[in-house]
Amino acid sequence: MPKTEQSSNESAIHQTPNPKGILLGANVSIAKTGLMAAVEETIQYDANTYMIYTRSNRGGKARPIEDFNRDQALELMKQKGIFDPVVHLSYLVNLASPKEETWEYGVSVLTEEIQRVEYLGFKYIVMHPGSHVGEGEPYAIRRIAEALNSILTGNEDVFICLETMAGDGSKVGNSLEQIAEIISLVKHEDKLAVCIDTCHNYSFGYDIVNDFDGFLKSFDDTIGLNRLKVAHINDSKTPFNSHKDRHANIGEGSIGQEALYRIVHHEALRNIPQILETPGGKYRSEIDVLLDRTPASE
Ligand SMILES: [Zn+2]
Repeated sequence: MPKTEQSSNESAIHQTPNPKGILLGANVSIAKTGLMAAVEETIQYDANTYMIYTRSNRGGKARPIEDFNRDQALELMKQKGIFDPVVHLSYLVNLASPKEETWEYGVSVLTEEIQRVEYLGFKYIVMHPGSHVGEGEPYAIRRIAEALNSILTGNEDVFICLETMAGDGSKVGNSLEQIAEIISLVKHEDKLAVCIDTCHNYSFGYDIVNDFDGFLKSFDDTIGLNRLKVAHINDSKTPFNSHKDRHANIGEGSIGQEALYRIVHHEALRNIPQILETPGGKYRSEIDVLLDRTPASE
């Protein structure tokens, strides 16, 4: 038998911010220096993943992705142990829209975003499935699938992660069944994945506080847990089953710190990027609490 070499990387593994394999970060800014700004903000939070929007939610032309300081940022991420960043698609995209112009705008933005994210070398684009604005859910589901079928070629290097919504307005993709239906209508369904959001799920009526395991079981039965690729971790300003989308700070909403802590530490979310989208710039202390860290003294 050849002598087994002891791994010299063993101690390095334990120096990572999250030895348990929890990937936790926040929605960070790309102001001025692009990805470098995002990574530097992530380092301030002592986090090991992050999410960005590559373009303004107010519309207008997207900043050239070549100006994002990609190589420098990827190098810094490697040094600091930051993994699997997520890109959120612009809110202005509505692939369910009955208006031809809006639908086509969405198709062109998502097509371009796939190329931009491939350039960055990231794996996940999170998008809100869409709003039917009066045409009804079955229409919206067909319309979204039609858009995805016109965009996806099967050669993409990214996953389009459909986000589960809160049931507010005329949004679709609130229930796991609706998400599963969209996926079932898309030819290149291997490019589709799912992003859950604790605020949305609780607000829509999934009792993730008392039965997160039951929610995961339903997810597995309807969609398949292999498609769960991203999680948004937010408390909710509104009560259970209120069908509203109002994010609260961790521990200051109807879900509560204890339930969110359990979710963040759940086995099923290991190595899945978990992203805070909470108000008020409290990310550092929220991440400290969720990871049992002593708060920074500054
Ligand atoms: Zn979202």
